[in-house]
Amino acid sequence: MGFNIAIDGPAGAGKSTIAKRVAKELNFVYVDTGAMYRAIALYFLKNKLNAGDEAVAAAACENINVRIAYENGEQQVLLNGENVTGQIRTEEAGNMASVTSAYKAVRERILSLQQDLARVADVVMDGRDIGTCVLPKAPLKIYLTASVKTRGERRYKELTEKGLACNLEEICKDIEDRDFRDMNRDISPLKQAEDAVLVDSSHMTIEEVTETILRHARERMAGN
Ligand code: C5P
Repeated sequence: MGFNIAIDGPAGAGKSTIAKRVAKELNFVYVDTGAMYRAIALYFLKNKLNAGDEAVAAAACENINVRIAYENGEQQVLLNGENVTGQIRTEEAGNMASVTSAYKAVRERILSLQQDLARVADVVMDGRDIGTCVLPKAPLKIYLTASVKTRGERRYKELTEKGLACNLEEICKDIEDRDFRDMNRDISPLKQAEDAVLVDSSHMTIEEVTETILRHARERMAGN
């Protein structure tokens, strides 16, 4: 087993930005598990499947193969052999992922993929249930959160900088809906693991959050 760092938290808390920086600093592999759920969601979108029907989702999982590869250190997601890394970053795929990720068949489809990655390397893995379900024995667990307002504003800035038209109120509403679905589903809901360190990034810079997590990581690594 590698030395694993689990970072969980709600949408838009900055997990992927921070996890990437922490991984780079420690020379660990960054694993973005949201990308795996987004790839499955993309399958539903592409095939116009009814995401509200669990039986449809379970049947679809039989035809879905998600794989992870690394190109120049960047995670690539392959859906049935096709590299979909560029296609999964839409609001539509994110929102669909939070619907389809509630199904047992969907979660089971990628659980061993996540655990295998953590077995063979030192990883910083981010998601919703990494500390609670995927890597319950991870020596460092972080629960990274921020207020809905902060998360909404960050997303708004990101989208407008890309030249995309968007509405702050709608973004905040989407974030609230996504939080509700992620926190209230029956299987592997988003919640802070009992032994996780809580980091609220509402009033912290990216550098401050990264440094905080690195400090905890170095302490735990020294103690190992
Ligand atoms: O983190 P990201 O926004 O890419 O995740 C998309 C969706 O995938 C989340 O809203 C959540 O429903 C789901 N997810 C999950 N478990 C994870 C990672 C993501 O259920 N470990």
